[in-house]
Amino acid sequence: MSDTIATIMAKAVEHPQNLALAELETLLGVEDPEELSRMFDAARKLKLKCCGKGIAMRGLVEAGNTCAKDCFYCGIRKSNAAVTRYSLSADEIVAAAEESKALGYASLVIQSGEIESESHTAFIENVLERIRHLNLGVTLSLGEQEESVYARWKAAGASRYLLRIETSNPELYARIHPAECDWARRVECLRALRRTGYQVGTGVMCMLPGQTLADLARDIEFYARMDVDMIGMGPYIPHEQTPLGQEAGHVTTEERLLMGLKMIAVTRLYLHDVNIAAATALQALAEDGRERGVMAGANVIMPNITDVRYRRSYQLYAGKPCLNENAGMCKGCLESRLESIGETVLYGQYGDSRHYKKRQDGGCL
Ligand code: SAH
Repeated sequence: MSDTIATIMAKAVEHPQNLALAELETLLGVEDPEELSRMFDAARKLKLKCCGKGIAMRGLVEAGNTCAKDCFYCGIRKSNAAVTRYSLSADEIVAAAEESKALGYASLVIQSGEIESESHTAFIENVLERIRHLNLGVTLSLGEQEESVYARWKAAGASRYLLRIETSNPELYARIHPAECDWARRVECLRALRRTGYQVGTGVMCMLPGQTLADLARDIEFYARMDVDMIGMGPYIPHEQTPLGQEAGHVTTEERLLMGLKMIAVTRLYLHDVNIAAATALQALAEDGRERGVMAGANVIMPNITDVRYRRSYQLYAGKPCLNENAGMCKGCLESRLESIGETVLYGQYGDSRHYKKRQDGGCL
């Protein structure tokens, strides 16, 4: 291993946020297989030290694909006429929450396209009130909303919110979104979520056209600057029914996967105690993508528990996995996959971010 990489890694594990921008960039640029495997090992060890043993599970329910946004990369963008639109009923979401509980996942993620309306706000509020008695840790991923909406959902029982910034570079953001999408509003939403008392999660896509290693290093600094508790990030995967997906690209599947893994490892090495999810997009690129995410330092997995009838309609990118497998099948499969790499599934636990808990306790846990 080169001295430079060894020195940077030794520095990284000393304490959080101990690397300069150029050092983050150097780690993200590692290509040598041996260096990579040492970097992933170091990140996984740090995960064990700072987040404990085992992998936290969140049942993911894709509540609807109707979206007001027209993001240039996303398969469910509003202009994609080829998508059959659906919205789960309140009963269906409640049933999914009950299933999540029955499967032993003490935590639930409700994700959908972006809708801002009083009826949608009230609908989600009602669902949250109906599942409150299940005592699940509930994460929402429902896009940009007014602070008052975030507050209502919080009061109704949600405790975490995931809103990816997509990229911390406002110019790159402007290139992959229509003009009405405002990067600054997204940042303001993250601040509003923090003020409202959520455990806040964000993340980016990597391997976007035109994105540089310096952009990705700055993304990791952005996580630190925003002092977020959870990270959900993954490789960008072209979807042919989108404008960005039709642009010619020269990135291989292996390169996308590898950068997804490096982002996990370097984020772990920089932030230590945040929750980092091994995103489903990794699994879309390789069958064992999520396990590899865990081996690179991730500590959360979000198995899809959406009814298989709807999964095909919630394709943000090409190659979405497990389109025909129900939640029970996914559970068995995941458990054995995680055991094969020496991990255990944490059943019946909220899996709160330790970073959040430390902040709540004034810095000492
Ligand atoms: N609309 C909600 C959540 C649904 S989209 C929100 O904005 O928060 C969830 C995430 O899927 C997005 O944040 C984006 O990062 C990711 N995504 C969308 N299209 C993608 C693609 N083509 N490749 C990889 N990830 C994609």
